[in-house]
Amino acid sequence: MQNPSEEHIRPRTLDDFIGQEDVRGNLKIYLQAAKERGQHLDHCLLYGNPGLGKTTLAQIMASELGVNMVSTSGPVLERSGDLAAILTSLNRHDLLFIDEIHRMPAVVEEILYPGMEDFKLDLIVGQGPGARTVKIELEPFTLVGATTRIGLLTSPLRDRFGVICRLEFYNPRELSLIVTRAARILGLEISPDGALEIGKRSRGTPRIANRLLRRVADYAQVAGNVLIDADVAAKGLDIMDVDSRGLDMMDRKILECIIDHFGGGPVGVKTIAAACSEEVRTIEDIYEPYLIQCGFLKRTPRGRVVTPKAYQHLDGGLKLRGQ
Ligand code: ADP
Repeated sequence: MQNPSEEHIRPRTLDDFIGQEDVRGNLKIYLQAAKERGQHLDHCLLYGNPGLGKTTLAQIMASELGVNMVSTSGPVLERSGDLAAILTSLNRHDLLFIDEIHRMPAVVEEILYPGMEDFKLDLIVGQGPGARTVKIELEPFTLVGATTRIGLLTSPLRDRFGVICRLEFYNPRELSLIVTRAARILGLEISPDGALEIGKRSRGTPRIANRLLRRVADYAQVAGNVLIDADVAAKGLDIMDVDSRGLDMMDRKILECIIDHFGGGPVGVKTIAAACSEEVRTIEDIYEPYLIQCGFLKRTPRGRVVTPKAYQHLDGGLKLRGQ
């Protein structure tokens, strides 16, 4: 079997993009309207957890509009000149994708405002008394910003987006459709209940579903199974320590750490991060949202608290493992 890259699996059209019905429905209208008017699409902000499809949607938007997509990310744009170079190279109606837009430095953000609003750049050339402002006209373009943390965006930047779309976690059925589609592209045989088993354990995230599918396929191949059914999927996922709700070792470590060392909470995220030897940002961006979504963790003004539901889940896991 060949090993097609992640890019092969990425949906190319809105019709191939599974789930997120509201976002998809709205974008379809905005894209059609922009095309009919022969104008650029309004600037669009996509926010949601990593792996939910923000980059994929931006690529789909560019391809549906028949324009180029130029990609960059907030932390890469260190100086205003970095962004100016990109903006002045854009062709008419091109789509500029800025990932992690909340991590863009303030000086860069400021030159983006007139760019977004009037398609103009105000560049300061030189220093001291001899410094002067040069105005540069830009081609109309669409900015698509992606962020995992909309709360960290300044309001002047947020207010300049005409379209704001929130991507939600996917349900197991949607994820099973994503897994089935990826399996078809990868040339793997999977039953509907096998795909659902992977879907249930993918933390609501397509990127994780695709990754688990590949690892389960490895397990199936080595175990001599051609078909990935529910049993094969469950065994492959158990070996990877991905439990029935999709929690991995780190998720369980976070919950167990709060229970064992802090009486179940409340405890601050910095203390949890130090106790688990993990970065605060990783806990906040990657682990916490899914634990909250599962109802296993609550954010309170005094810190994080583990819920009774989490105790039940962890106890069930210990019993299954005979501890
Ligand atoms: P993000 O930019 O939000 O981190 P990506 O757009 O890179 O996430 O998505 C990660 C992967 O998940 C993509 O390569 C794609 O194959 C898959 N994916 C994401 N959303 C969907 C979807 N709605 N339907 C099918 N596959 C998806």
